[in-house]
Amino acid sequence: MTGQVTFGKTSWSNPLPTSGGGGDDFLNLNKDGQYVLRVIGEAPFEYAAHWADDVNGQIRRLKCAGRDCVMCKEGVKAQVRYLLEVIDIDNSEAKIVEFGTQVYKQIHALYNNKHWGDPRGYNLMIDRNKARGPSGMYQVMPLGKEELDAETKAAAIAFKDRVKEVMLKFAEPASNEENLKKLGRIEADDAKTSSWVADATTPTPAAGSNSVNAEGEEDFDF
Ligand SMILES: [Zn+2]
Repeated sequence: MTGQVTFGKTSWSNPLPTSGGGGDDFLNLNKDGQYVLRVIGEAPFEYAAHWADDVNGQIRRLKCAGRDCVMCKEGVKAQVRYLLEVIDIDNSEAKIVEFGTQVYKQIHALYNNKHWGDPRGYNLMIDRNKARGPSGMYQVMPLGKEELDAETKAAAIAFKDRVKEVMLKFAEPASNEENLKKLGRIEADDAKTSSWVADATTPTPAAGSNSVNAEGEEDFDF
């Protein structure tokens, strides 16, 4: 796993993505290995996610719908997730990285450590190793403090500006309707009918959804 990581000087000559807010803008830390990142966002965006089975038995990730969330009412546990703009140092690409509380707490600790401080000032290595078990899967290590070059800084600013709307959208709760559509429990064309309300409030077994890995094994499907 370590073979893919290069330390030291990398190239910033790769073009940054220019399309708006697609899946390519996201970096999901869902494979074992070492990710070297430079935080460029001021602070993470927080939202809550559910993992729930759709009608075909596939696990889907849903944004929590907030106060009247059907998933919450059915007892499907909501998990806090964070989104943060970073430069993926290995690929020289600006990304929105997504992580859970385990990574968040470690970056938080670095931020509050007088020797490190704001993570925009140094690279982070996030080491993912599933063999360590759920509670130790992610280890966050600070790497030496290096200034980003002017070109990268400019690219970072442009990226943050471009994905601002995407980030803000994540901070808003989903609607029950869109979640139930994703689960196949209502037809996309039946959006205006109210029949799903009765179905949705009937408690159904969570079918193991609560045991899904808290650090996110699923690709983005929002
Ligand atoms: Zn919910």
